[in-house]
Amino acid sequence: MDFNFSQSQLELQDRLRTFCRDHCSDQLAQELDEHPRDPQELHAALVNDGILGHCLPAAFGGGDGRIVDAVIIHQALSHASDAAVNLMFVNYICAALVSLTGNQAQKERLVAGVARGDIRMAFALTEPEAGSDAGAIQCRARMAGEAERVNLFPTDRRIFLCNNLG
Ligand SMILES: Cc1cc2nc3c(=O)[nH]c(=O)nc-3n(C[C@H](O)[C@H](O)[C@H](O)COP(=O)(O)OP(=O)(O)OC[C@H]3O[C@@H](n4cnc5c(N)ncnc54)[C@H](O)[C@@H]3O)c2cc1C
Repeated sequence: MDFNFSQSQLELQDRLRTFCRDHCSDQLAQELDEHPRDPQELHAALVNDGILGHCLPAAFGGGDGRIVDAVIIHQALSHASDAAVNLMFVNYICAALVSLTGNQAQKERLVAGVARGDIRMAFALTEPEAGSDAGAIQCRARMAGEAERVNLFPTDRRIFLCNNLG
């Protein structure tokens, strides 16, 4: 078995090096630490460079990248920028789950929307008493009256919710 990176994976590593050099400066990291805000320009750059959608299905605007590609992307972004890797990871993992388990309409709206950059997703798993032990979650989802819309009760139990712009 060949454990070396393929040519396309080496090229992806190069793309990531260029991306991090151009968009993930120490200056931006310091600015975000000191004055927290939603780094929309970083999200736009991830979308425009095709990195955010790289591992989503091509049928929904992605690049059909495999799991090793996802590791290459997350490793490079983790090294360069906490903000970039959180934008990448949270959107990618949510859209990837919808692409595995969603219906066609959900995939067309949510997965394609994440790849295009006009939808941003978040997952609300963690509670004060439930992190690794996801079975301990006390919050429950209830239909909110509209199709596909749910509310979480009680709402104040959510913590550590990245990419939550609401
Ligand atoms: C930067 C950041 C962003 C995050 N973003 C989100 C988000 O967007 N949405 C969200 O829902 N959550 C988010 N989280 C929360 C994250 O998912 C939780 O921190 C994670 O699930 C771990 O839970 P915990 O912190 O309660 O640690 P715990 O579950 O209390 O674990 C503490 C330690 O015990 C170990 N441990 C736990 N269970 C076992 C076991 N059975 N056997 C052996 N060791 C064990 C763990 O490895 C860890 O070292 C984020 C966290 C961070 C740090």
